[in-house]
Amino acid sequence: MKFPFAISNYRLDNSDIFSKYPTQEACIEHLETVRWDDNPTCPYCKSDKVARKNELDKVGRWNCRACKSSFNVLSGAIMQKTKVPLQTRFLAIGLMVNAKKSVSSCQLARDLELNQKTAWYVQTRIRVAMVHKERHLLQGIIEMDETYLGVVT
Ligand SMILES: [Zn+2]
Repeated sequence: MKFPFAISNYRLDNSDIFSKYPTQEACIEHLETVRWDDNPTCPYCKSDKVARKNELDKVGRWNCRACKSSFNVLSGAIMQKTKVPLQTRFLAIGLMVNAKKSVSSCQLARDLELNQKTAWYVQTRIRVAMVHKERHLLQGIIEMDETYLGVVT
C-alpha cells in the first residue's frame, strides 16, 4: 500500500501545497488516486462494486452495492472524522516531515492557526500513520545525519 500522502512520490514543499491542492475537492481527488489508483473499493467489505454517490458531492461519497455502506476516501484512514481542512492537514504533514527536530503541537497550532488541542490531535494521527506496522529493529552498522539523541538537562 502506498503512503496515503504520496510523500514518497515527491518532496513535500510546504509553499506548494495550496497551489497543488487549491480546494478540498482537489485534495480528495489526489487521495483517491493515491489510495485506490482509480479502482475504488469499499473499506468495509473490500468490494469493488461501488458507485459515486453524487458527482457534485464535495466530500467524495461512494456507495457500496455489496454491503450498502456509504464511504469516502477518508473512511478508515487517519484523516477520518475531523473538520480540519485537508489542505491544512497536508501542510501539517509537510511541516512534520520537513522538520529537523520534532514539531511541538503548540508550534503546529501557531503555524496552522489551529487551537493547540486540534493541532495535537492532527499531529498524533499523522504520527500513528508514520509507524510502519511491520517494523523491525535496525541491525548492523547504522549511520545517521543531523540526528539529535538524548535528553537536554
Ligand atoms: Zn461494502
